[in-house]
Amino acid sequence: MIKQPRELELLAEAGHLLALVFERLDRTPLAGMSTLEVDTLVERFIVDDLQARPASKGQYGYGFVLNCSVNDVVCHGVPSPDKVLREGDIVNLDITLEKNGYIADSSKTYFIGEVDAAAKKLVQVTYEAMWQGIRVVRPGARLGDIGSVIEAHAKRNGYSVVREYCGHGIGREMHEAPEVLHYGTAGTGLVLREGMVFTIEPMLNQGGRNVRTRPDGWTVVTKDGLLSAQFEHTVAVTASGVSVLTLRADEQGMLEG
Ligand code: MN
Repeated sequence: MIKQPRELELLAEAGHLLALVFERLDRTPLAGMSTLEVDTLVERFIVDDLQARPASKGQYGYGFVLNCSVNDVVCHGVPSPDKVLREGDIVNLDITLEKNGYIADSSKTYFIGEVDAAAKKLVQVTYEAMWQGIRVVRPGARLGDIGSVIEAHAKRNGYSVVREYCGHGIGREMHEAPEVLHYGTAGTGLVLREGMVFTIEPMLNQGGRNVRTRPDGWTVVTKDGLLSAQFEHTVAVTASGVSVLTLRADEQGMLEG
């Protein structure tokens, strides 16, 4: 579970490249694109521009480079030529990238054009919840500290936290130990140590926390049909705190809050 310095360098390189993918998406007008067109754009950028590998393609029999989860889709939305992004939608784009054998994982929820105030607030609170979780990471902290601050921030804003999916260790494999829950009790769980690398990726729902999987076997939606949002970063425990391996240029300063 502890990565060596050379492995941490390679993970940081993969993380930086993945941040560049999101910076590319930030410059892309997504309205009117189908989610399959977004997938193709991201695949070309990862393969041709970054000389890296989209790690999700082929993993668990999945045929695409990203998950695109629109509105009430909680996670694992599958790209489709029939799903066109429309003004007012919120869409989470969840992407993994491998370079030199090491994998980074990150996601961001985008606004398509103008979205209503309720959707905006859910997305903003979800982003804050992820950052609050990241800020408690340091040697000696415990996994329950992360879950507890995320859950508290969701609750105080009237939202619920999805429990079926969690963050995870990451390295040569996309999913390694430990599991990082986005709810829980401070002072409990695994003690964090320098060299651990894992994702923090809370999913917050506007309504109830319950989810169901659509008949396609992939797409997870809220049971009540209300909105869900998610953000994800890959982080490393350092000697003195945390390094966000997938940090984007526009997020410098977020660690300080
Ligand atoms: Mn992940």
